[in-house]
Amino acid sequence: MNTLEEREVIALVVQASKCLEALTRKFKAEAMSAECQAKIAQQQTEIALIQAEEEAERKRKEQEPKGMIKCPFGFCPICGAVGTDRQRSGAVITDTCAEGHSYESTDAVPLSEMMRRKRVN
Ligand SMILES: [Zn+2]
Repeated sequence: MNTLEEREVIALVVQASKCLEALTRKFKAEAMSAECQAKIAQQQTEIALIQAEEEAERKRKEQEPKGMIKCPFGFCPICGAVGTDRQRSGAVITDTCAEGHSYESTDAVPLSEMMRRKRVN
């Protein structure tokens, strides 16, 4: 049979260990939650980066001269209309413009030259 003092000490130890357990659980939960939050923040950063890249790519495409895509054959050296067709016949590559002119593809006016001319005129 324990003395009163011993029982008090045991009770205190039990209480203290329960308290410690609770604190440990609390700290573990907080640590996990902090870890989770760090991961979430990291993922959010990655998502933001991807979104920024996509946005930059979209803007870059928007700013690209539309003619680059629409006029892969350049422009007619005779009338300035857009080249609509390119036919290879042996070593000679012949382009045809929207107005029906035929010319060698090497004579086709590139978009950059076309834009320069428009600025000059
Ligand atoms: Zn033409």
